[in-house]
Amino acid sequence: MLLRMSNLFLRTLREDPADAEVPSHKLLVRAGYVRRAAPGVYSWLPLGKLVLENVSRVVREEMNAMGGQEVLLPALLPREYYEATGRWEEYGDTLFRLKDRKGADYLLGPTHEELFTLLVKGEYSSYKDFPVVLYQIQEKFRDEARPRAGVLRGREFHMKDSYSFDIDDEGLQESYDKHRAAYIRIFDRLGLEYVIVSATSGAMGGSASEEFLAVAPTGEDTFVRSTGSDYAANVEAVRVPVPEALPLDGLPEAKVHHTPGTATIQTLVDFLNDAGLGRDFSEADTLKNVLVKTRVPGTKEWELLAVGVPGDREVDFKRLEAALEPAEVEILDEADFAANPFLVKGYIGPKALIDNKVRYLVDPRVATGTAWVTGADKADHHVVDLVAGRDFIPDGTIDVADVRDGDPSPDGKGTLYTARGIEIGHIFQLGRKYADAFQVDALGPDGKPKRITMGSYGIGVSRAVASIVEQSHDDKGIVWPREVAPADVHVVGTGKGDEVAEALRIGQELEARGLRVLVDDRKAAPGVKFTDAELVGIPTTVIVGRGLKDGVVELRDRKSGERSDVPVEEIVDRTVAACAE
Ligand code: ATP
Ligand code: MG
Repeated sequence: MLLRMSNLFLRTLREDPADAEVPSHKLLVRAGYVRRAAPGVYSWLPLGKLVLENVSRVVREEMNAMGGQEVLLPALLPREYYEATGRWEEYGDTLFRLKDRKGADYLLGPTHEELFTLLVKGEYSSYKDFPVVLYQIQEKFRDEARPRAGVLRGREFHMKDSYSFDIDDEGLQESYDKHRAAYIRIFDRLGLEYVIVSATSGAMGGSASEEFLAVAPTGEDTFVRSTGSDYAANVEAVRVPVPEALPLDGLPEAKVHHTPGTATIQTLVDFLNDAGLGRDFSEADTLKNVLVKTRVPGTKEWELLAVGVPGDREVDFKRLEAALEPAEVEILDEADFAANPFLVKGYIGPKALIDNKVRYLVDPRVATGTAWVTGADKADHHVVDLVAGRDFIPDGTIDVADVRDGDPSPDGKGTLYTARGIEIGHIFQLGRKYADAFQVDALGPDGKPKRITMGSYGIGVSRAVASIVEQSHDDKGIVWPREVAPADVHVVGTGKGDEVAEALRIGQELEARGLRVLVDDRKAAPGVKFTDAELVGIPTTVIVGRGLKDGVVELRDRKSGERSDVPVEEIVDRTVAACAE
């Protein structure tokens, strides 16, 4: 491949686009890789298309190597399939819906579980046919509430989606593990720094699920990592180390104190410290009981749930939702408190909860033998030295307190801190949700039908392009890893003499040696050409300029900035060697 900038469909821009906030958005637009067509909808220009294809090629090679077979299904899908799984409704406003000329409902596929399931059902019927992994690389459509950051979150975007079909759970686990291994190879080859975090599976249903997050401060996903190990997890998935139960013998007796005007934890702590109880109290010594209500989907009844957490922590609502899934959860309103007069706001204690049969779950730190200051279920009263496992026995534990920087890492090594990432891949064990919806069975060796089980696996191909730029750029422009770069080498000819002709000649030789070459043969000032070369971000640059009259050209490395003068007769070999590193 040899591209000449004199006729390449490329315009670079000196200014950032007005709507751009993150580096990848600014740089991909400025360097002429993409152009906005509508909110969250982008055109890929020649250099962009090359990068997109390079990422797709890596994905394709690794998917083929793990046994996947590539197909291409339509993006335009009839409503009935999504009706059968409930997703026509479930997807809400995110689904692009449209009508054909006869008035029939269609949608633009946001992900393709339904059609793949039906496809396999139509073709396969015996256990001998399985396992099978099918995948496609295709445009997906989601009417995102907040399309943002250029192609990072588009409304039309490129996804690799694959689906595994197995006869039993062990098979599914194997398909899942193979995908996981393939994803590791893919993201390694793409040069991305990423973490794998366990995820809660949300609307897809099913059990095991992990996300691949590209580490980037501009990412929308928060995760925690450890200072002392490679532990990384979604905030929802962090499990607090459970302290050992302490002996109950010899602990002081619980005692109710009149604590006027102590409805907040800080006022309570101040009161206790002024009360001369012979020791110091902090927020962490108090037990805060947070009331919510939960409901099993499809039922009408809301049920009260109390969550007890140490007073220096908050209940993290996202962690709570994840822990209670699929049940819905809401905070109590005034009417709920009015209907349950035993709940004395600011003074709710375990006793009233347990006496009134409210389900009561506590943070794992509220272990047997720990003593607490907590509400005495009466205005202006608290109980001190209320011991878990002695004075109250909760219904169980729930790990939903907020996770803080500095908390011990669950693996015992180091402490946790918060970081941000971009979800570039997601692997799910779907189980039988879709097979049940479409009754997909395979005849087993015993002649009996057996329900198959599935996994679904996505990679944001266009998002990966932007994620690479998020991680690999400097103040001058993009710095592509070679595997995805639109070219291996950028040969820049500057000057009024033979320089441009010589640049072309070198470019052709490099092309003959198997490199992908971009030659800047434009009639433009040297400064413009250098600026563009740095902006566009090809890993290796050859400058054919002033030195040519002395038989010298310059070899530059975009990433390290290293420059060396090379005799012109050696430049082809030296460049080939540099590109092979
Ligand atoms: P997000 O949480 O970022 O909205 P998601 O969990 O809804 O993503 P999946 O349904 O898991 O996304 O889709 C598989 C992959 O497709 C994601 O891991 C991500 O890399 C990519 N992807 C999802 N939505 C978009 C989008 N709007 N633009 C670009 N890529 C996307
Ligand atoms: Mg996801």
